[in-house]
Amino acid sequence: MTHDIHIVGGGLAGSEAAWQLAEAGFKVRLSEMRGSGEKTPAHQTDGLAELVCSNSFRSDDAEANAVGLLHQEMRTLGSLILTQADRHRVPAGSALAVDRDGYSQGVTDTLANHPNVTLVRERVDALPEGPAILATGPLTAPALADAIGGATGAEALAFFDALAPIVYRDSIDMEVAWFASRWDKGETKDYINCPLTKDEYLAFHAALLDGEKTPFKDWEKDTPYFEGCMPIEVMAERGVDTLRYGPMKPVGLDDPRTGRWPYAVVQLRQDNAQGSLWNIVGFQTKLKHSEQVRLFRTIPGLQNAEFARLGGLHRNTFIKSPELLDPTLRLKNRPNLRFAGQITGCEGYIESAAVGLLAGRFAAAELRGQTLTPPPPETALGALLGHITGAATAETYQPMNVNFGLFPPIPGRTKKADRKRMYTDRGRAALATWLSSPQSA
Ligand SMILES: Cc1cc2nc3c(=O)[nH]c(=O)nc-3n(C[C@H](O)[C@H](O)[C@H](O)COP(=O)(O)OP(=O)(O)OC[C@H]3O[C@@H](n4cnc5c(N)ncnc54)[C@H](O)[C@@H]3O)c2cc1C
Repeated sequence: MTHDIHIVGGGLAGSEAAWQLAEAGFKVRLSEMRGSGEKTPAHQTDGLAELVCSNSFRSDDAEANAVGLLHQEMRTLGSLILTQADRHRVPAGSALAVDRDGYSQGVTDTLANHPNVTLVRERVDALPEGPAILATGPLTAPALADAIGGATGAEALAFFDALAPIVYRDSIDMEVAWFASRWDKGETKDYINCPLTKDEYLAFHAALLDGEKTPFKDWEKDTPYFEGCMPIEVMAERGVDTLRYGPMKPVGLDDPRTGRWPYAVVQLRQDNAQGSLWNIVGFQTKLKHSEQVRLFRTIPGLQNAEFARLGGLHRNTFIKSPELLDPTLRLKNRPNLRFAGQITGCEGYIESAAVGLLAGRFAAAELRGQTLTPPPPETALGALLGHITGAATAETYQPMNVNFGLFPPIPGRTKKADRKRMYTDRGRAALATWLSSPQSA
């Protein structure tokens, strides 16, 4: 059977994209290497959209949570992943957790039996001619990863993520921290600086060494990570002053309260255009999440820090999307190719499926000779897409879960307690407007 579009990768993104296109009436070739004798280091089955680790899609609370709002939007858009997740739901409080085998079997059966889908168990090694969607995930098979590197430029393709923690701006104590650029270089004060005394620094250093870490998986150890994104605790092991001459160096930073350089400084850099998210510079880490929260709140100025993302280092193939992709996820230098899922630099099961949903809908509109306007940034889908295709993050681009820091700020003075509900109410209204506009068909 000839096909209108070729999707490579039968994970969360590829399965969702295939469903959206097939339901729109297009013939889809879906290539998945598992089941052809090929494996990834993480997948255990041949099932489509397999959940490789936890069985949770995180919070399902659409009133007070960005990921819950994303679930709601995807249900509204007829998501296959959400349909099967709901059908195979298991008790987990306000989280959406599933019977992973039942859910994956449901996705596999739905697509394998769909009249518009041809599921082919094969490994793809070269870039398809197109139209095509590449949704091969963080563990893309090496030959195709090289081919992608050839099309994007090797420097625009990463094999490891080096996630520094990201803090909500409004949770930083600016009575203690201050804005400045080192040596006051440049017009603007681009960094938020948190000062440490000698005692605070030595205590922090010792705690870093003692902190509980998440070990690398055996198969991750084969892929070297760059010296430049060494875990902060590994740097600390190299000597008590390594950090003070590295990411925590105080030189050129006068603390306005003392007029002098502190003993050490933790710097935060703006992470998004809105200025609502700030990342802790050079703090990629394998410390366990709970340890990060405990330890990083000992940093003066961050004692009340709320984290939009915690640090991590994982084997993770992803492209520098803000530079490479247009607003509808097409590769700018090869517009017949779209990317979807974790390989675009989103982080998480549901985020990957969401990007697959959008890629499927953008491709379906294009096959109909139309252009689909991206969902507005006030929606969870639009906010996530903005992180992936928005230029603001190109330089320091790293994978990200959906969170309210990616949404345009709520204008005016608002009570913190009301803010989350205001984001989701505004998101629902924006989605309804988008869905009622002709371009969103
Ligand atoms: C070890 C690990 C644990 C994770 N744990 C979680 C977690 O607990 N919670 C969470 O939310 N997220 C987690 N993630 C992150 C992420 O959500 C998942 O990786 C998610 O599966 C990404 O979806 P995807 O569709 O982009 O890729 P995948 O689901 O990985 O799908 C890609 C598919 O492409 C296939 N493929 C690859 N190369 C080729 C090729 N050349 N030809 C044909 N097929 C190919 C693969 O076999 C795979 O089926 C984890 C990631 C990893 C690596």
